[in-house]
Amino acid sequence: MTERKPVVIAGAGPTGLMCALALRRQDIPVILVEAEPALTHDLRAGSFHPPTLEMMAPYGITGRMMAVGITVRHWQIRNKPGDLIAEFDLNLLADLTPYPHRLHLEQHRLTPIQLDLLQAEGGAEIEFGTKITGFTQTSDGVSVTVETHGEERTVAAAWLIGADGGRSTVRRVLGVDFEGFTWPELFVVASTPYDFGARGFAFNCYIADPDEWGALFKLPDAGPPGLWRLAYPVNPDETDEALLEPARVEAALQRLVQKSDPYDVRYKSTYRVHQRVAASFRVGRVLLAGDAAHLNNPLGGFGLNSGIHDAVNLCDKLGRFWRGEGGEELLDLYSRQRRTATVEQVQAMSIRNKRLMEERDPAVQRTHLKEMIATAADPVRARAHLMNTSMISGLKRANEVV
Ligand SMILES: Cc1cc2nc3c(=O)[nH]c(=O)nc-3n(C[C@H](O)[C@H](O)[C@H](O)COP(=O)(O)OP(=O)(O)OC[C@H]3O[C@@H](n4cnc5c(N)ncnc54)[C@H](O)[C@@H]3O)c2cc1C
Repeated sequence: MTERKPVVIAGAGPTGLMCALALRRQDIPVILVEAEPALTHDLRAGSFHPPTLEMMAPYGITGRMMAVGITVRHWQIRNKPGDLIAEFDLNLLADLTPYPHRLHLEQHRLTPIQLDLLQAEGGAEIEFGTKITGFTQTSDGVSVTVETHGEERTVAAAWLIGADGGRSTVRRVLGVDFEGFTWPELFVVASTPYDFGARGFAFNCYIADPDEWGALFKLPDAGPPGLWRLAYPVNPDETDEALLEPARVEAALQRLVQKSDPYDVRYKSTYRVHQRVAASFRVGRVLLAGDAAHLNNPLGGFGLNSGIHDAVNLCDKLGRFWRGEGGEELLDLYSRQRRTATVEQVQAMSIRNKRLMEERDPAVQRTHLKEMIATAADPVRARAHLMNTSMISGLKRANEVV
């Protein structure tokens, strides 16, 4: 292959950075363009599954994350007020992965590690404060329009990767449908240093409740003691100001674990959740990855993990194409495999997890939870469940797609 025009990547989130690193490892020229002046720092993902840790390990990312993250061997299902229903032990997967656990680390602590390794790898042009505003493509390249401080210019690219998040400009310009729906409720996320672990909570818990179901997990923050983050649904018709009133957040935390003194709440915010998948992850020489290609609710911690899985799959195929080891059909295979993983696994499981946690009919909820208790108590069923929830089974199935 004689192609020496660069691959342009839109977005220096975890997906775009992973793409840049994976392409540079294969000596493929890369221009990484990020609209913000620096890496973003907002409260987002923080839970990494075993296959993601395996995929990032050869790049040196996993080792650096493990040094500062929290290893999570068990996860639990609890109700309100906080009683234990079932516990799963990820060590049941010890023969399948060198990482039989989840790893908790804030997304905004992953991206600096990725950027640092990318810079150490050398050769990537990285432009912050520069956004992609449009592009046109032919059969052998993409003419990408970028804007820095109001000044537009055109970059000639061999390929364009849209890793520019849920509101992707690349996806919009492509005109690809973003099929799915938006959940009616809003979510509040609130963090506190209160030690739920001392009350027996695992570092990752799903909370089943008809009104305030949700998730609780521990993140390292700036170091010990770390912060526990609770996410729960709220009425979208109310203002952020009302939803985040200290007394409201306090009441939600007290309903999970009642204590005499008030919770020390360090961060709180609201966010809206979507379930959407792009109709195709490839149109000609333009590819979509990460949130630009799919969005899901956070129950199960699949969003960021799938972005990394996209990046690794895509860059393996782009590298093979670049070296002349296959034709452009490799990139269609990327789209088929990753859409399969997204639709069959991530979308299906995250929707099911949400429905299980929020079930309103007490009899149905009891049946669901009994099923979970029976699954957790049987090592064979528990292992199968853990293979699903850790994304191992779905990845295997998607990678078999030809
Ligand atoms: C509140 C919240 C909680 C979450 N919790 C979890 C969780 O627990 N587990 C999980 O796995 N996932 C979670 N997610 C999802 C996770 O954060 C995303 O899946 C992840 O950020 C996707 O990474 P990305 O790189 O694809 O997109 P992003 O992180 O959105 O990065 C896209 C980047 O592109 C840049 N950009 C946008 N437009 C342009 C443009 N035109 N030109 C150049 N650059 C552009 C943006 O500035 C941004 O830096 C959560 C998300 C939210 C919002």
